[in-house]
Amino acid sequence: MLDRPGTSGEPSVRTEDLCKTYGRGETAVHAVQRISVAIERGEFVALCGPSGSGKTTLVNLVGGLTDPTEGRVWVDGKEVGGMSERQRARLRLNHIGFVFQAYNLLPVLTALENAEFPMMLRGVERETRREQVLELFEEIGLEGLHDRRPGALSGGQQQRVAVARAVLGAPALVLADEPTANLDTVASDALLDVMELLNRERGVTFIFCTHDPRVMRRARRIIRLVDGHVERDAEKETGDLPSWVVEPVNS
Ligand code: ADP
Ligand code: MG
Repeated sequence: MLDRPGTSGEPSVRTEDLCKTYGRGETAVHAVQRISVAIERGEFVALCGPSGSGKTTLVNLVGGLTDPTEGRVWVDGKEVGGMSERQRARLRLNHIGFVFQAYNLLPVLTALENAEFPMMLRGVERETRREQVLELFEEIGLEGLHDRRPGALSGGQQQRVAVARAVLGAPALVLADEPTANLDTVASDALLDVMELLNRERGVTFIFCTHDPRVMRRARRIIRLVDGHVERDAEKETGDLPSWVVEPVNS
């Protein structure tokens, strides 16, 4: 039986003194330094901060893609560090949708096949998968492009396919690393609409790494990292953009 995601009553994500250091000695990089946070189920969180502040490393630790140097991380109450590779793979398949900074689409599959891939692994029926993919594609401006391979799509279109792949089947937690970085404002708003809907109606927890003010405006909590530390962690109203998140362009 599959674990029923999001039914444990535990936070969606919790970390305790989480640290990740790359390298050793004088050249060691302390990418994540003693981060302790809890993100409840159904939150919509933007993780911001300058380039190199540890955002990608933190979401990779949460998803079990990399191991902490120290400290602990739990997803839905289960400690990721204590899991075997198999258990982590299962956690990712059943519980977490990923949108990576590089889209990681499979070049030999069509847009539709890429998007339906995790649902296929979860055993969702073909007809249901196709229906859901085509419906979402229409909503996010990918109508008519489902038979194209990634090489025949623009960067923005590939990014949308990657986002569709992550959110289809409504996993309990979506980790998205700069999901709107390659999108124009119309496409980016359409994607955020889809994510907000999943968040509101199905309680999916979203954690975005982002520099994009459009994403930060929609978030209800912003965590700002600097040099691997949490510098600010604040709840806010949807629509607000606190002054402390504004950064120079290209940071
Ligand atoms: P962000 O996503 O906020 O830009 P990252 O998590 O990618 O930050 O990086 C945090 C720090 O860790 C940076 O100094 C980066 O150069 C370093 N870093 C990230 N990944 C690696 C790696 N695989 N090996 C060595 N250093 C890394
Ligand atoms: Mg990054």
